[in-house]
Amino acid sequence: MTTIKTLYYLPDTWDDFIGVDKAVTHFRNIVRIVRVEQCNLDLSTLLIGPPGTGKTALVRKLAQCLLCTELDSDTLNPCNACDTCENLSYIEGNDDVFTRIDFDESQIDHIFSPIDCTRTDGKALEVRLGELKTSPGIVRLAHLEEVGCLGKNSQDHALLVPMDDRGFIWIGTGMSSQGLSRAFLRRFPVKLRMTLPDRDTLALWLAKRCKERGIKCESFDTLQRLADRSDLRPGYALQVVKCASTFENPVITREMVEEHIFDYGE
Ligand SMILES: [Zn+2]
Repeated sequence: MTTIKTLYYLPDTWDDFIGVDKAVTHFRNIVRIVRVEQCNLDLSTLLIGPPGTGKTALVRKLAQCLLCTELDSDTLNPCNACDTCENLSYIEGNDDVFTRIDFDESQIDHIFSPIDCTRTDGKALEVRLGELKTSPGIVRLAHLEEVGCLGKNSQDHALLVPMDDRGFIWIGTGMSSQGLSRAFLRRFPVKLRMTLPDRDTLALWLAKRCKERGIKCESFDTLQRLADRSDLRPGYALQVVKCASTFENPVITREMVEEHIFDYGE
């Protein structure tokens, strides 16, 4: 078993994502189509953007929603408490996750399959896809992480044909679309570019997260500095928020921001 990069951060709800509204809207739509309307459409999506924009977190949140046994069909948020939600609450591991969802008149198997393309060669991919095809899943969500690392052969031969199978939702994520063949790119009906938030947007978002958790903050400057120190990555900035929330009198001080040793999860 291989382990993909750990980000330690999975927002509880769709509203907790920052600066990626288009992607959130699109992913929530996927949840509605699969879980509420139960339609069989081609929902494959390519997300391109720098590290820290929340690509992997979005896919994991989508996986949680598609596999959650107690999904809230109004807000389309997962319960964050069932076995699947627990299982997927941390972004690590490369194992398939499987669940059986009750609908009014039937039960449908859902499967999530994370595939780390940096560690998957053509042969391994073929084996993995073979396993997926014979798995009991009816709704199969496959995440091709770092999709740019797929060899051309894997794109054209190993993936394009299996990708046409209905019942699969393919989500490709990566830093750029460089190296991806035109035929492969065309296979994703939706392609979205992800960007990091600017400093003030991130600081405002952090202020909201602090308020929700009852955490005081010395000043807005402190949160702006935290945004800078986090390289504008919300997941890194939240490490300090999480740390503050463990105190008896939760507060974020300038000193904490300056001295925090970030866990880059690599
Ligand atoms: Zn759940």
